[in-house]
Amino acid sequence: MNKVGETVLEIDLRALEHNYNYLRSKIKDGTRFLGVVKAFAYGSDSIAIAKKLETLGTNYLAVAYTNEGVVLRDAGIKLPILVLHPQEVNFTTMIQRCLEPSLYSPAVLTAFLRTAKELQQKEYPVHLKFNTGLNRLGFSENEVDFLLEQLLGAEQIKVTSLFSHLAASEDLNERDFTQSQIEAFEKISSILLGGLKDRPFRHLLNTSGIINYPHAQYDMVRSGIGLYGYGNEASEDEQLIPVATLKTFISQIHKIGANQSIGYNRGFISNSPMVTATLPVGHADGIGRIYGNHKGHVWINGKLAPIIGNVCMDMIMIDVTGLNCKERDEVVIFGKNHSADKMAGYADTISYEILTGISQRIKRIYKDEM
Ligand SMILES: *Cc1c(COP(=O)(O)O)cnc(C)c1O
Repeated sequence: MNKVGETVLEIDLRALEHNYNYLRSKIKDGTRFLGVVKAFAYGSDSIAIAKKLETLGTNYLAVAYTNEGVVLRDAGIKLPILVLHPQEVNFTTMIQRCLEPSLYSPAVLTAFLRTAKELQQKEYPVHLKFNTGLNRLGFSENEVDFLLEQLLGAEQIKVTSLFSHLAASEDLNERDFTQSQIEAFEKISSILLGGLKDRPFRHLLNTSGIINYPHAQYDMVRSGIGLYGYGNEASEDEQLIPVATLKTFISQIHKIGANQSIGYNRGFISNSPMVTATLPVGHADGIGRIYGNHKGHVWINGKLAPIIGNVCMDMIMIDVTGLNCKERDEVVIFGKNHSADKMAGYADTISYEILTGISQRIKRIYKDEM
């Protein structure tokens, strides 16, 4: 058993390569691939992931916010970077760092045009986002005429792509709704393709879209969760490999008698003698208090052990009664052997939240081919 000695997030770049190749195999050769690296590349490390994606031949990257893109530029990433939710206060920085905004409303378009003009830009790449049913961000169908009017002669920008986002691509009960989003996008984007001189490319699908609606791949797909090893359904999870594994080790083992309490606020009382293990990971690391009191489990030497009592800021205690383990043994919180999806299930949430919730204080270690 590998003794890790401290809590680490192991990032397996070979798994990333495998997942990338798998997702690529689902789309046509000519379709571009955008890797979504927002939120520290789903909680892992945006620089390491972006560098690997760059060497794999990814065509585009996306982040949610400008500062996430600045970090990648500072690290020397050269790929085009789409900023999904830019804010007006950052427009100057965006242009200075070659970050490409998603323009999603008349106000945002007007403000970006103004900044691009002030900075004397010519054909600065921008992307237009359309709302086709998610009702989160995007121009609506009835703003198409306004857009064509505004963009005519707007030399400071170049519309590089048109896109939209699906609301329920992973839910096959919502097939009809998704199909209506695809049709709305087809309609809106066709009008703009006819009216704009810029010849933008189009994109719509996220990971589950790639899997369930490959006919709507257009010119590019945008994948996040799939790259990190989760496919939102068991059959896809089988094809993918988790990139991030949160590992820790047993700091101390306690033999506890009956009627003893464990942890803060005496959250658990033993009704018979038991053995507990204390682990150096807590709610400050992303293991929320919701996992306490037998909700969450961790993986140790091939067995699952429940978290007992309340989750502390920096520690959890687990019940290892009858398990074959000792101090310094490795424990997997989630990742390989115990998926983030399984972990998510204990708390009625989704793998995305588990992955992105891992704190920056946890050391990242990397596995790549030698
Ligand atoms: C986060 C995001 C994605 C990635 O979605 P996954 O389900 O992780 O593949 C794609 N497009 C947009 C607009 C997003 O915000």
